[in-house]
Amino acid sequence: MTDKPINTLTEEQAAAEAAELRPQLIKWGQQYYSADAPTVEDDVYDRVYARLVALETAFPKIVTPESPTQNVGGTTRGDLPKVTHDIPMLSLGDVFSIDELKEFDERLRGNVDEDFDYNCELKIDGLAISLRYENGEFVQGSTRGNGQIGEDITANLKTIPSIPQTLSRPLTIDVRGECYMPKAAFLALNERREAAGKAPFANPRNAAAGSLRQLDTQVTADRQLATFMYNIADYEPLNTRTQSGLLDELAELGFTTNATYQVAHNMTEVAAFIEAYQEQRSDLAYGIDGIVIKANSLPLQRELGATVKVPRWAIAFKFPPEEVQTKILDIEWTV
Ligand code: NAD
Repeated sequence: MTDKPINTLTEEQAAAEAAELRPQLIKWGQQYYSADAPTVEDDVYDRVYARLVALETAFPKIVTPESPTQNVGGTTRGDLPKVTHDIPMLSLGDVFSIDELKEFDERLRGNVDEDFDYNCELKIDGLAISLRYENGEFVQGSTRGNGQIGEDITANLKTIPSIPQTLSRPLTIDVRGECYMPKAAFLALNERREAAGKAPFANPRNAAAGSLRQLDTQVTADRQLATFMYNIADYEPLNTRTQSGLLDELAELGFTTNATYQVAHNMTEVAAFIEAYQEQRSDLAYGIDGIVIKANSLPLQRELGATVKVPRWAIAFKFPPEEVQTKILDIEWTV
């Protein structure tokens, strides 16, 4: 990867650099998503990915269909049954600074006529799952996979205590959220693995994925996995029409949701939420790798829609890696 300013590149140079970056990112992605065994740190992946996004944004003609920017990362294990997601499970766009966040906000507000709020949520460091209920009964659970086709992991998900088998109302819904491994369970698991001469998992996210995407249900049951649900494929069966109300209604239905969220009326409030939880991050019992900011109105979310890969109504503010964390936030900016 070069660090030449993008505005000094010709389209040919940009295309050549992008053609070098894509196979590298695809290879890292396979190791991360398919084998649950990354070979580089996330911030290395993120830096190369951000460079590719910058090249493709400056020179849209160089985008290729197989580019990681055009595909939800993730594959399916050949030996697990497949599930087609009627409504795709997407990734999230990301930003790494308050300035970039502010640009996102300005772009969005430029495209929306009315004033709107955001809902700020913790970005749980796990893997996305989808839970299908028919008339209030849990019938199928799956991984995100490539966003269109995931893995059927119903039997494994049935072993997780935070997933209700029956809802408090007989709804037919697909609820989405995150399956994660609490930090204490992760440390204990790696100790047991090392004592048994097995390779430790790289991080709680990979440990959770490896514990769910496998054939032995008893292994999943022993791994102390937990869930936070935060989304629904189609909000029509619900009473609420806001993201914050959705979290409350999911909790009423019997799901475990994360109690830490906040409606923010402007970017100053969003930045304050980010700063507070960036500081408290290491005190939480589970890993978070950022804050997700979502337009709070569900009809507005639907109206804004999504690209092939990410919703237009949300963005993830990514924290720096924990060990090199420095104060990068400057919340004293005008809105
Ligand atoms: P992502 O994990 O950065 O963000 C999207 C995901 O966030 C969603 O799918 C959802 O599962 C999750 N999420 C957690 N809390 C949420 C909330 N409150 N609301 C909505 N979504 C929430 O995106 P991704 O496409 O799954 O993966 C990209 C990430 O994976 C990057 O951080 C990258 O560093 C990492 N990665 C690392 C490697 C490596 O080799 N180290 C390779 C590929 C990807």
